[in-house]
Amino acid sequence: MNVYSVLDTLNDKQQEAVTSNDKNILVVSGAGSGKTRVLVNRIVWLQLVKKYAPSSIIAITFTNKAASVMRDRVQSLIGIQKKNDIWISTFHGLANRLLRVHYVDANLPKDFQILDHGDQIRLLKQLIRSLNLNENKYSAHRAMHYINIKKNRISDIPPHNININRDAIEMVWCQIYQSYKDICNRSGLVDFNELLKRAYILCLNYPNILRYYQQRFINILVDEFQDTNQVQYAWLRLLSGNNNNLMIVGDDDQSIYGWRGAQVENFRRFLEDFSHVRIVILEQNYRSTSTILKAANALICKNNMRLKKNLWTLEDKGNAISVYCAVNVADEALFVANNLVNWRERHGDLNKCAVLYRNNFQSRLIEEMLLKKKIPYQIYGGMQFFERKEIKDILAYLKFIVNQSNDTAYMRIINTPNRGIGQSTVEMINTYANLNHLSLWNSSLYVSNKKIIKGGPAIALKKFITLIDSLKKQILTTTLSLHEQICYIIKSVGLRSIYDKNISAPTYRERMQNIEELIAMSKQYDDSLESTININPLQQFLSYISVEFEGHSSDAYSDAVQLMTLHSAKGLEFSQVFIIGLEEGIFPNYISLTSQSLLEEERRLMYVGITRAMHKLTISYSETRYIYGKERVVQSPSRFVNELPIDCLEIC
Ligand code: ATP
Ligand code: MG
Repeated sequence: MNVYSVLDTLNDKQQEAVTSNDKNILVVSGAGSGKTRVLVNRIVWLQLVKKYAPSSIIAITFTNKAASVMRDRVQSLIGIQKKNDIWISTFHGLANRLLRVHYVDANLPKDFQILDHGDQIRLLKQLIRSLNLNENKYSAHRAMHYINIKKNRISDIPPHNININRDAIEMVWCQIYQSYKDICNRSGLVDFNELLKRAYILCLNYPNILRYYQQRFINILVDEFQDTNQVQYAWLRLLSGNNNNLMIVGDDDQSIYGWRGAQVENFRRFLEDFSHVRIVILEQNYRSTSTILKAANALICKNNMRLKKNLWTLEDKGNAISVYCAVNVADEALFVANNLVNWRERHGDLNKCAVLYRNNFQSRLIEEMLLKKKIPYQIYGGMQFFERKEIKDILAYLKFIVNQSNDTAYMRIINTPNRGIGQSTVEMINTYANLNHLSLWNSSLYVSNKKIIKGGPAIALKKFITLIDSLKKQILTTTLSLHEQICYIIKSVGLRSIYDKNISAPTYRERMQNIEELIAMSKQYDDSLESTININPLQQFLSYISVEFEGHSSDAYSDAVQLMTLHSAKGLEFSQVFIIGLEEGIFPNYISLTSQSLLEEERRLMYVGITRAMHKLTISYSETRYIYGKERVVQSPSRFVNELPIDCLEIC
């Protein structure tokens, strides 16, 4: 390829950034102005013009999806490279890679395992229980929050944390943290923040290792810089040493991870810590129509805490932004699905469309409608509704109450919520089941009646049997409607109480919303129930879910609508974008309504959402929403809808 043809596709400012001989370059600009394009083209420039070996280059971004998009863009310019040549990675991916190589110096076993979010919570729960602490006061989620904050802060990493005055409560948190660390160290477990912290400490404590990577990664390029936290920044600073070339790319208006410790101030820090920084500001947007851009600019102007930019485009006005006010959430989902049907007929490519939402639970109704309309979809960066733990738990109970031979459901519910039936009891029940060819339920009855198990577990098992028997009787003879039955079961089993102990947990609200969503779904299903069929409504509902949803694999489709949260959409672009659920309390979310800075973060998230759209943006909200599955609440449209210029909008 002609090297200089790379430059032909760039504007003057972009060319300046790509070809700059300065050691330190900061590209700061608004969405869709070609920051990632600049970064990708600089990688090409460094190799083809500056003759740097591919292995001297490392590009770091924030999500695996963004990393793979970046890799594709590099490959489309200079062809496929050897896998290990140039490193394109996330911060976590890079940390993992370094620690695998230097596990001895990092004081880790060779086969250390990574703890994901769920594992971390489970471990902390056991730990807090074993320390005999009050689980209401010292919940696993709060402990996780405490630990993660500590790990994200440089000041809490030795040798900085020498002498801190701690009160009694703080001492307990420290004790939890210390015990957690001990268990992880003993078992070779590393959580996500620990990965970053260890990689940083490794480079800090081993100058020879640091020097090796400084000499290897002569060119370091970082995308989405606005979302780096303290440890990531400090690590980056170490890696970039005195002689390395550094390109930092970001947009303060798209900082959406403040809640996870990301610091926009890292821009200021970067300018202070590095000398002779060439600052390039890109202001031309190439992604969106002028209507979409005008709306995005108008919205983000409402934020006070920002570096002001003037983003413009040569693109036509294009289509107006459609605004749909739905009577209820099902109507909203139907509207989106119908639009996608039309799109498929006119344009074909479904993977050019995305549906974005604030909370994971909002995908459920969209999934249902898309399945009905036979529109393939893919959920990115999140679980499908029926894969979520709280939903799986409820469904396992429902299935088991209808059919006690369901051993899989039995295994899921036998000690959920914890009722003191431990592993050894379950193993014994299993052994008797195998020996006597019984279901686990019948084996439980046998073991309980014959008093094979003694003490606490025997009492707990008896209670479980009584609970299931009474629920079974209740459901078979009930006059309750379907959703009342489900509410009754959830309440009797105490499924919400699993989470009630952790009300302050970041995931608490989401789990409650998911449970409410399932109840709301059953209420809607109630109305369409076929009374002529002589099957228990609960059984009908379960069959409906199995046929319509479970086991549905979106991976089977190569051309599918992309469903994702607004957070996961960062850095991506789609021809057509839907943003749903624009209601006060949903987006902006409930927690942000009382805090100026949280509200500004929500507005930045809306800005990210709007600027994902290239040609067509549709936003929608519902006038009503079911809360707790029964209360029909009138919703107000999000303030973000009112902040968009009226001449950019068309009401559907
Ligand atoms: P975000 O802030 O969302 O991460 P970005 O600033 O990284 O966006 P890119 O994704 O690099 O922007 O570019 C946005 C779109 O504009 C892409 O489709 C890209 O190919 C296109 N683009 C960027 N610069 C140019 C240019 N000079 N000429 C034509 N198209 C361009
Ligand atoms: Mg980008």
